[in-house]
Amino acid sequence: MSHKHREPHYPQGYKGVFDTHAHLYDARIFQDAEAVLERALECGVDTVLVPADNEETSRLAVDYVQKWDGFKGIDLYCSVGVHPHEASSYTDDTERFLADMLSERDKHKIKALGEIGLDYYYDHSPRDVQRDVFRKQLKLSYELDIPFILHERDATQDCIDILKEAQKNGMLLPAPGVCHCCSCSAEIAKMLLDMGFYIGFDGPLTFKNNKKTPGVLEICPWDRIVAETDSPYLAPEPNRGMTNEPAFVTLVVEKIAQLKGVEPAEAARITAENGRRLFRL
Ligand SMILES: [Zn+2]
Repeated sequence: MSHKHREPHYPQGYKGVFDTHAHLYDARIFQDAEAVLERALECGVDTVLVPADNEETSRLAVDYVQKWDGFKGIDLYCSVGVHPHEASSYTDDTERFLADMLSERDKHKIKALGEIGLDYYYDHSPRDVQRDVFRKQLKLSYELDIPFILHERDATQDCIDILKEAQKNGMLLPAPGVCHCCSCSAEIAKMLLDMGFYIGFDGPLTFKNNKKTPGVLEICPWDRIVAETDSPYLAPEPNRGMTNEPAFVTLVVEKIAQLKGVEPAEAARITAENGRRLFRL
């Protein structure tokens, strides 16, 4: 691949940018934490939320925030939760662990439950187990009054059905969470927006062959858009194929600005404000 010969592009001239989704404990970027956070700050990214996907990474996310929060002024937060890939690992002990962590959420700077949801693309856990674990964590989100980070891939109908069922039972918060790395159609996004969800945009929005996600952005009201990297995955153009890091979130913000027809600094400000409202920072 020719990727390794390219130099990454680091957008400059911004401030107050919020990367709402970066797996900073991932080995690919963890070793280099200091440099990664310095580059984020140089690119104007001063707030990052570190999401988890199982019990182990929940601990890693909490530890990462504990260790690096405040480094040169950066503001770090995290989430705890069990990803659909890991649904098979979810036991009563896991639930107790999550509830315990969330009972000390201020101390740990935990601002969300997640990633939770359904993934029928990889099917790493049986689908009925995924649905069961999704329902259990939805209940936790409602009862403990904490928004969640939704991961959904190739499971749209079941996902919407389970969310609607929770809503019908009065068990969904008014602003339930964020549809992370949105890959759904505009029609489904509209349903999620009606349920109070925010929509998370990342690298794929900038990919030249992606015709669907710009259409979702178009129908998404300004006050529901958040920017994320999903570091270390899915680096945005022109850094596609490289290891992703929070500094690159501004490339997503620039694309949002371009498609919405506003100045990038304005898009940076609004997406950060939305993230702060959603995660109650
Ligand atoms: Zn993620």
